[in-house]
Amino acid sequence: MNLADRSLNDYAVFGGQPAFTSALHVNKPWVGRKQTFDAHVNTAWENRWFSNEGSLQRTLESKLAQRLGVRNCVLVSNGTAAMGLVLAELGISGEVILPSFTFISTPHQLVSRGIRPVYCDIDPATGNMSAAHCERLITDKTGAIIPTHLWGRACDVDAFEHVSRRRGIPLIFDAAHGFDCSYGGRKIGGFGNAEVFSFHATKSFHTAEGGAITCTDDDLADRLRRARNFGFVGPDRVAGVGTNAKMSELSAAMGLTNLESFDDAVAQSRDVYLAYRDALADNPNVSLIPFNEQESNNFWYIALTLSPSCPISRDDVTTILRAENVLARRYFYPGCHRMEPFLSAPDAQQPDLPATEQIAKVCFTLPGGPEVTPQIAHEVCMLLDNIIKNGARLTQKLRAQGIPAADTALPGDRVPKPESMT
Ligand SMILES: *Cc1c(COP(=O)(O)O)cnc(C)c1O
Repeated sequence: MNLADRSLNDYAVFGGQPAFTSALHVNKPWVGRKQTFDAHVNTAWENRWFSNEGSLQRTLESKLAQRLGVRNCVLVSNGTAAMGLVLAELGISGEVILPSFTFISTPHQLVSRGIRPVYCDIDPATGNMSAAHCERLITDKTGAIIPTHLWGRACDVDAFEHVSRRRGIPLIFDAAHGFDCSYGGRKIGGFGNAEVFSFHATKSFHTAEGGAITCTDDDLADRLRRARNFGFVGPDRVAGVGTNAKMSELSAAMGLTNLESFDDAVAQSRDVYLAYRDALADNPNVSLIPFNEQESNNFWYIALTLSPSCPISRDDVTTILRAENVLARRYFYPGCHRMEPFLSAPDAQQPDLPATEQIAKVCFTLPGGPEVTPQIAHEVCMLLDNIIKNGARLTQKLRAQGIPAADTALPGDRVPKPESMT
């Protein structure tokens, strides 16, 4: 396989052999030691205790709180449920300011609670929510601010805490990508009123399915624990509205297993990230979104953008890469405001998010984490280099073969109505 010097017909999209024989996923779930997992599952098995404040869940909660340096960690069934519980227990209503350039779960949680999402633009350099734009969106209806720590790169925590304090608006962070990452030397988890983690299998640290809320407020933590278990405070006493958002002991077993070797996984992920960084350093058409090496990082997401001068579009690049078994993803795309139910909102309610629109067209993620090796990262970069070098010819050949330029119009681009129809 010659990655550096390919002719157009060598590309798998045109019938050549894929550069990689097996699929390289962007976030292939990693796992720790099987023996550890078996031992924990065996504990649950022997105790016949599979849920409801089991010993594995309680142990994992205290280990995670310790690791993140935060007073309270409340484990739940998934990150989406975690966000729902926080919104309920903080009594959030009205409008919530959040990025469109994030995962759709939070906007849907808001809408299903009768809260209106107000989409905020991002800082084009980092993809994180813009604190300056957020301030301009605050009204007397603003009930909370929910920035995301995108791709594990912390957002501008100081600026958001400042706004939150000055305006008296609750601040919740979507920390789904941010496990074990720090801001100003302090681990993500203790900022704002609460932070919400996802421990889904594709996240850097995972429990198969799972999530957590971390907070410094003990009273809030108590209420969250109660609410995740139907509101029960005793065998038959219910103190308030609750739901079922408990973490099972099997998930906690996975979490304890993965936590044991998490540092090794991060070290390997860092090597992969550094291989990408070095291999892409001289490529003027590609920018890797950097990790700040002064901070603690999980090095999980390899996120990139293509420059405006790049001779081939992001969508054509990902189409070609995917045929080569490099399952690059447009992440996030196209932005929550271009998904339902927001897409069908009247024109007058469509938000103006120029930086979000721009990055959604040029950014993508590549396979990272400990399931990849620095050698593979290097090969992926050689392939990418070659695709860009031949960008104009590849684009032409794709069109000639009838492979359409994917999504030249984003979903929701309003097509002007012909005169006769009005
Ligand atoms: C994964 C993710 C979520 C949702 O978490 P689940 O555990 O899948 O419910 C929320 N926000 C972001 C940014 C995510 O990446």
